Amino acid sequence: MASAFGHSLAAYTIAKTAKGPRLTGKLAFWSALSGVLPDADVISFRFGIPYGDPLGHRGLTHSLLFGALWSLLVARLVFRREERRGTTFFVLLLASYSHGLLDAMTTGGQGVGFFIPFSNERYFFPFRPIEVSPIGVTRFFDQARAILASECVWIGVPCLIVLFAARIFWRRRTARD
Ligand SMILES: [Zn+2]
Repeated sequence: MASAFGHSLAAYTIAKTAKGPRLTGKLAFWSALSGVLPDADVISFRFGIPYGDPLGHRGLTHSLLFGALWSLLVARLVFRREERRGTTFFVLLLASYSHGLLDAMTTGGQGVGFFIPFSNERYFFPFRPIEVSPIGVTRFFDQARAILASECVWIGVPCLIVLFAARIFWRRRTARD
């Protein structure tokens, strides 16, 4: 995993870019949660499920199928009374998918099971600059400096650039309307 900070920032950036000033606190929250949620699968270690198992870490909850089902469920249940649910679904979907994409760019662990349950193959991208965040809070804090420094460069800076560009875009668009 990248850390929860990195994942939630990336997911928030997606939501803010897509919705601009129309982003509600509710969608920002559910997007950030969607970006972090896949790592809830670390609980699998408690049940003795091996890393490489389809239900193991970076397995099913990191898959494209899970992201799609989760986004559909949240859009239908949590946002059922709201307009533009299609856009909301896509924001949640991209926020969910950002998790696996970032994990596939980390320096360690096993790859991401994007195609589970159809294939249990694990994938990394050829470009893997993000320092992997260890499983467990204590181990994270031991290495927090290196991890957060790496995430600042490879997640924080790109997110800030995108947020800045989106802000200019939405400001111009609002001025035109
Ligand atoms: Zn993960």
